[in-house]
Amino acid sequence: MISITLPDGSVRQYDKGITAMQIALSISEGLARNVLAAEVNGEVWDASRPIDEDSSVKLLTWNDPKGKSTYWHSSAHLLAEALEALYPGTKFGIGPAIETGFYYDVDFGDETLSSDDFKKIEDKMIELAKAKNEYIRKPVSKADAIEYFTEKGDEYKLDLIKDLPDGSITFYTQGNFTDLCRGPHIPNTGFVKAAKLMSLAGAYWRGDESRKQLTRIYGVTFPKASELTEYLHLIEEAKKRDHRKLGKELELFAFSEKVGMGLPLWLPKGTALRERLQNFLQKAQVKAGYEQVMTPHIGHKNLYVTSGHYEKYGADSFQPIRTPQEGEEFFLKPMNCPHHCEIYKTKPRSYKDLPVRLAEFGTVYRYEQSGELHGLTRVRGFTQDDAHLFCRPDQVKEEFKKVIDLVLYVFGALGFENYTAQVSLRDPENKTKYIGTDENWALAESSIIEAAAEKGLTTVVELGEAAFYGPKLDFMVKDALGRKWQLGTIQVDYNLPERFELEYTGSDNQKHRPVMIHRAPFGSMERFIAVLIEHCAGNFPLWLSPEQFIILPISEKYEDYAKKLSDELKDSDICGLIDFRDEKIGRKIRDAEVKKIPYMLIVGEKEAAEGQVSVRKHGQGDLGSMSIEEFKQQIIKEITV
Ligand SMILES: [Zn+2]
Ligand SMILES: [Zn+2]
Repeated sequence: MISITLPDGSVRQYDKGITAMQIALSISEGLARNVLAAEVNGEVWDASRPIDEDSSVKLLTWNDPKGKSTYWHSSAHLLAEALEALYPGTKFGIGPAIETGFYYDVDFGDETLSSDDFKKIEDKMIELAKAKNEYIRKPVSKADAIEYFTEKGDEYKLDLIKDLPDGSITFYTQGNFTDLCRGPHIPNTGFVKAAKLMSLAGAYWRGDESRKQLTRIYGVTFPKASELTEYLHLIEEAKKRDHRKLGKELELFAFSEKVGMGLPLWLPKGTALRERLQNFLQKAQVKAGYEQVMTPHIGHKNLYVTSGHYEKYGADSFQPIRTPQEGEEFFLKPMNCPHHCEIYKTKPRSYKDLPVRLAEFGTVYRYEQSGELHGLTRVRGFTQDDAHLFCRPDQVKEEFKKVIDLVLYVFGALGFENYTAQVSLRDPENKTKYIGTDENWALAESSIIEAAAEKGLTTVVELGEAAFYGPKLDFMVKDALGRKWQLGTIQVDYNLPERFELEYTGSDNQKHRPVMIHRAPFGSMERFIAVLIEHCAGNFPLWLSPEQFIILPISEKYEDYAKKLSDELKDSDICGLIDFRDEKIGRKIRDAEVKKIPYMLIVGEKEAAEGQVSVRKHGQGDLGSMSIEEFKQQIIKEITV
């Protein structure tokens, strides 16, 4: 008998050679129907693979990321089986699972594939899935593996086998298709109920441009047909909300090749939006005891030698800027922290002065390869809503609680209701790779955990995920489409205070090192705005809208009245514009809808005579007539809510 420990801590006895599937069956038949694979002592295994020793076992279903990835990788085999049936002689490269779905790199020889062929392949996959063929694992010797693929004439598999040590090679067979693979896989093909091929791309064998280009086929599969429908709907919706598309349509930001790739240009409306966000956060920060500072966009090489960034990132960053006469070297600022350390050092600090909270909307520059750039989410220049808190070790918990409050205030105001936090701690097995004393780490780690618990945050704790210089708390939000984004972060740092020799005088009259906390609730303005655009599909909350109203005069005759209304609203800090174009009112309304302007104020003869406006709300329609005063009060109420 062997002992199997399950995730809830319970221990069950089974015969040696039991499989995860049999364990599932012994618990419940319903569970067994959903088991895709199992984690055995931390390694993902086939659910049908015999377990020979005492083990901890976690059954993996569709709801586990590792279960899903096993499912999608197995679907890549199913795709290959379908391709081999439809296009005999096809040669296969590799077929891994990816974040959503899977791909297979294949060589069709003279045949070329187009998306017109997808339907036929998908149908074949489902036909083969219905056969419920088991994925059968078989260890083979290197010689046998070479013989099999030599006979089949698949040079790609032979190339892979070449690098594998004898005794480590396994084949997997489902139906008539055999693949070289270390596994694991799902029990049988019957788990696949819906299949969709998404796109084609070229991919060099082993990423090497000097070798043959294969066809990469991307696909996705689901255990229920309805899940595929839902997924496709989500993709359509995500396309509509793509911040690059909406950023252009709403005239928020642009890129120019002349200015340089990955360097966003903020247009007037985008700037208005961004300034509102900044003012909103700045106001909350002032209340929370932050002081605003400003620092230059470049820093002397010595600053980064002191901070350690030069040694660590020097070669990967932008090249230095040299002065013509003095031979000085400067770098574009990759982060604001070193500058802020120097601000901290401008005067002696006492324990009574702490915490010192220095905040800056600091623009930083980081080199990213051109191929990695993506809209506002991967850029080369961006502005962090940065702040550095210099505090005593005993203040870390209180400061964390305050920062959590600030982050949650931001999320609440912007409609992110779904969020979790990750606490990253050091690896307790490997303490030497971290800087800082044991005592300080223990205090900081327990402070973060307690602060998060007291604020009622849902957290996951990850051991070994801390930076070498301190533990951290990261926030993940789920947007309206259920996609996860990492946004705000709070991070403890024992390294920079050491390197910059930061000090304060304690109550004992001795010198002490402060603890530094880096924090950015938005992360960066660019990334945050990108996520926000996609989350609200460009329909920003009224207080944030760059244009809150548009006045639509029915004809030229009412322009003076429109101007008077506009001035009156602007006096109350409500911003908007007037559509002076010589267009029909229906057209003006439609255009305003496309621009997602929250309120449309229509003025014609009746409105001008009675001192009223006829109000339409974006996405809602006609709200009827009201006086300008009534409208103003309604807007003010909505903005303050
Ligand atoms: Zn495989
Ligand atoms: Zn920092």
